[in-house]
Amino acid sequence: APIIVAIDGGAASGKSSTARALAARFGLLHVDTGSFYRQVCAKLMAQRIAPDQTEPIEAGLAAVTFSTQVVGNTAQLLIDGHAAGDDIRSEQVNTHVSHYAALPAVRAALLAYQRSQPEVARKHGFRGVVMEGRDIGSVIFPNADFRIFLHADQAARAARRAAEGRVDAVAERDRLDTSRKAAPLLCPPGAVDIDSTHLTLEEVVEKLSALIAQ
Ligand code: C5P
Repeated sequence: APIIVAIDGGAASGKSSTARALAARFGLLHVDTGSFYRQVCAKLMAQRIAPDQTEPIEAGLAAVTFSTQVVGNTAQLLIDGHAAGDDIRSEQVNTHVSHYAALPAVRAALLAYQRSQPEVARKHGFRGVVMEGRDIGSVIFPNADFRIFLHADQAARAARRAAEGRVDAVAERDRLDTSRKAAPLLCPPGAVDIDSTHLTLEEVVEKLSALIAQ
């Protein structure tokens, strides 16, 4: 069976860099589920559908087809054949994505798609997936081979985003993601909990590589 590595954590916790490094090292497909929520958010915003318009959201999501394009070792979501644009990292999407991601209809629409990724990985010759998000080890793959939770102090995370030159209210996003009813951000019971505040990316990757290589 494909190996499943689940990495959850807050905004700018180091998930993406860590997941990319593990994917390269272990021959895994990198699946960034945050990009999926961003893509859905950008699409709904382009259609002028607000998070409180439950019916248009449900109808809109029921009418689209999700598929995957594998580029290098990353899985890109295609919505009706279209890949995400650069706008998914915009300040607009940073500000609004958590409001859409809190909706059970949005989460339900992406559930089966996310669970299909290990099979996509296998078909493309990868040994499995490293999937990052907020609820991978809790909801999507509670039985993953490895479940990891990454966290870091708010100041360290804000500094990381600022170093990337991005405007992103990470504390507010985490507040929304942690306090929502549907699949809140949390350290899944039994997951390996890593505080990366005082660790370099290399140190985090070494710790996790030692775990996965066992
Ligand atoms: O990982 P990233 O910060 O790009 O995720 C953007 C947003 O997507 C998060 O703030 C959260 O609201 C949502 N998300 C989620 N569940 C996931 C991944 C992301 O709710 N598995």
